[in-house]
Formats: sequence, structure tokens, C-alpha cells
Amino acid sequence: MKAAVVTSDKTVEVKDKDIRAIRSGEALVDVEFCGVCHTDLHVKNADFGDKTGVTLGHEGIGVVREVADDVTSLKVGDRVSIAWFFEGCGHCEYCVNGRETLCREVKNAGYSVDGAMAEHCIVTADYAVKVPDGLDPAAASSVTCAGVTTYKAIKESKIKPGQWIAIYGLGRLGNLALQYAKNVFNAKVVAIDVNDTQLDFAREVGADLILNPTKENAEQVMQEKIGGAHAAIVTAVAKSAFNSAIDCVRAGGVVVAVGLPPEAMDLSIPRLVLDGIEVVGSLVGTREDLREAFDFAAEGLVVPKVEKRPIEDINDIFDEMIEGKFKGRMVIDMNM
Ligand SMILES: [Zn+2]
Ligand SMILES: [Zn+2]
Repeated sequence: MKAAVVTSDKTVEVKDKDIRAIRSGEALVDVEFCGVCHTDLHVKNADFGDKTGVTLGHEGIGVVREVADDVTSLKVGDRVSIAWFFEGCGHCEYCVNGRETLCREVKNAGYSVDGAMAEHCIVTADYAVKVPDGLDPAAASSVTCAGVTTYKAIKESKIKPGQWIAIYGLGRLGNLALQYAKNVFNAKVVAIDVNDTQLDFAREVGADLILNPTKENAEQVMQEKIGGAHAAIVTAVAKSAFNSAIDCVRAGGVVVAVGLPPEAMDLSIPRLVLDGIEVVGSLVGTREDLREAFDFAAEGLVVPKVEKRPIEDINDIFDEMIEGKFKGRMVIDMNM
């Protein structure tokens, strides 16, 4: 089968790769779509260790072609996801207490196991989340990673209807965060980005307040105009955004970190203690989070913007990603 495989010189080769027979508990999926994510760029570049030979892809959507004899959770013909959270051990404290993405023995698609940028993919049946009818499979690929990540981050923020949530970074993740915050959680949204094009797009999607920190002091405006946000989600990959988020929330506010800049943030301990600020890290989402995120998208409350590309374009897509050329999400169409 055709697959996008990481090579030792940090590029991706689209080549013919054999796929083994399925084993107990597994299913074989015919991949329809697989989104391209910044994480794939890190995997390819060996930022998380050498991954030569691995098939990329953790935003996969496909249809089950075959299941092992002992599989009861899936049947042939089901449409399912292949996500970054590919499998947990199923028995550790995190796996049993609802925080399975923190499992210390987690497997990640397109990283520790072969992923979905291929014609076929083997999944652990109990961990492949079904895609509801009525959700476009290309759009579903974006929910599998960006959608569930932002949906989970908003849950972690404990925001309530009518409260203000600040979203730092309105790119691929932030745009979906904005839609979940507005349309699912009924929050009021402040959109903060250094890029006016992203802010225009945020206004179209319904942001209540738009701020460009290169033109005004975002945290000061928020404190003055709305008394500080109740929560902030930081998808931007910049230390300055994290520092601003700490200063933009009101007392008792929650700052949720999603973006991954390599630096440390400046966190004033008096601010943390005296104003009771919470700072939380949030990583993708559980299978249940993904089910919920899919359902809201199937209801039309969240609409990912995707552009379909053939698998042969994968290295070009990475180049465009580095240059910051596109809005929305790039999705590999396996039938193109
Ligand atoms: Zn991703
Ligand atoms: Zn576990």
C-alpha cells in the first residue's frame, strides 16, 4: 500500500509499504482522509527522537474493512478515527480515572505506531472512536486532533455560559477553539492574535472582542473593558502570549496551556497566590472527549475549514506550514 514514511534525512517519502495481518483486538481501516498537523512536522524532524520508518498521521478517518474474531466494539463498515491518543494500557491510575491521555505507556499514531497517512491503517478496535453519521469525514479529521484538543482545553477552563474566555492564537487550533467556546459553551470570546487576517476570520466566526497585541496592550484592554477574562486558552506558540494570558484573567481565572513554545513562562507567585489564578496544561482529549467533540461538529455547531490535497504533496505542505501560508487545515485525501 501507499504510505507517507519518515526517512533518516528528515523528509517524508511516499512509498509502497507492506501492512501485516491484524491480530487479536485489532481492526483494519481503509483510510479516507488524514489531516496534516504541526506535530507531524516535529516527528519528521526527529524533534521527539528518531522515527525513521514510521508512517505519519494522527488525524485519520477511515472505514473498517476487517475486524479480528474477538472484536465486539467495531464492525465492518463503521467509520472511525485514528487519533494521536492511539491506545492506553487500560489499567493504570490515569486509564481508570478518566485521564487516559496521561497514561505512561500510551501509544501515539504516527509516532510510536504506524499512523494514518497511508491507504490502510491497523487500529486497536476499542480505542478507535466512531464518527457519527452526518459529519463530513474530511471535517472529522480536523476534529480528531485540533477539534478535540481545543474542546478539551475549554472544558478544563471551567468556563460557564455568558462568561468571557480569551483565546490566544487564532490559527488552526484557535479557530476551532473559538467555535466550540461560542457555539457549544455559550461563552463570550476575546480573540487575540498578531495577524490581522486571522482576526478578520475570527470576527466572521463570531468573536465578541478582537485584539492585536502589536497595536494595543491586550491584557490592559481586557481588564478595563470586561474586568478581566474568566479564563484564557493559549494556542499560540509564543512565551509572550502565555505571559499576557496570566495578566488578562480576573481573580480566580484559569489559564489553559495548549501551545508548546520551548521556553519557560514568567509566572508571578504573588499573582498566582493572591489572585487565586490556576494554570493548567491540556493534552489532546480522551475517547469520550472525542465522541463529544464529533457530536457537536455533526450538529453543525463547529465547522472546520479544510483543504484537500493528494498524499504526494506532503513535503510541499510541510514547507507551506513552516512559511505560515495557509489558514484552515490541510487534509490528505487518500482517494485523490
Ligand atoms: Zn494533530
Ligand atoms: Zn494506562
